[in-house]
This record gives sequence, C-alpha cells and structure tokens, in this order.
Amino acid sequence: MHEMAIAEGILDIVLDYAARNQATKVTKIQLLLGEMSGVETDALQFCFEALSKKTLAEGTNLTLHRVPLMGHCKDCDATTQIERYRFLCPHCDSANLEIVSGRELQVEFLEVE
Ligand SMILES: [Zn+2]
Repeated sequence: MHEMAIAEGILDIVLDYAARNQATKVTKIQLLLGEMSGVETDALQFCFEALSKKTLAEGTNLTLHRVPLMGHCKDCDATTQIERYRFLCPHCDSANLEIVSGRELQVEFLEVE
C-alpha cells in the first residue's frame, strides 16, 4: 500500500530527529501535503498510528497541512490555483502551465519533548 510506505518514511524521519535531539516523546508532527501528491489522508493517519505504536511517536498529534495545486502560466505570467485538474490558464487559456505547488509530501514541523 502506497500510504504504508509513506508513513514508514515519515516515521523514519521523525524518529531520527527525536534520537538526535535526545527526545523522549514526539508530541506534534505537521506534514505538508500537496493536493496532487495522491495521498489518502485517512489511510495515511491510520498507517502512521499503526506503525508508531511502541515508538516515541505513539499517540502523537499528526496534522496535515494541505497545499493547493498552483500553476504558473508561461504565456501571460499569471499564477492561479488549478481546479479539478484543468491544466489551462484561466486568463489566456494557454496549456503552457508550470506546476509551482501541490506535489509536496514532507514533514513541515516537528515538536519533541
Ligand atoms: Zn495565461
């Protein structure tokens, strides 16, 4: 399962950070999650909870910060939010769009004790 692998990756980062900071508990994790990262948030939460049992991250407060899908038009220089995966510039109808955000999948913020 896709989300299980992602949750494992996140847990690795978190536990590594906790170990380097001699933490005894991970209290908060915030993830940056792009709209286009293709992650099921419920599944990710569930996998993370299951994997983090009996680790420093057990029972941590995991929040997801969703990043909208934004495109920059190379023809008219407008930056707009892309709705419903319609990859056309709403200003000039150009398909010459560059994705500037929405693919993120990373730990944004960590709090340990
Ligand atoms: Zn445009």
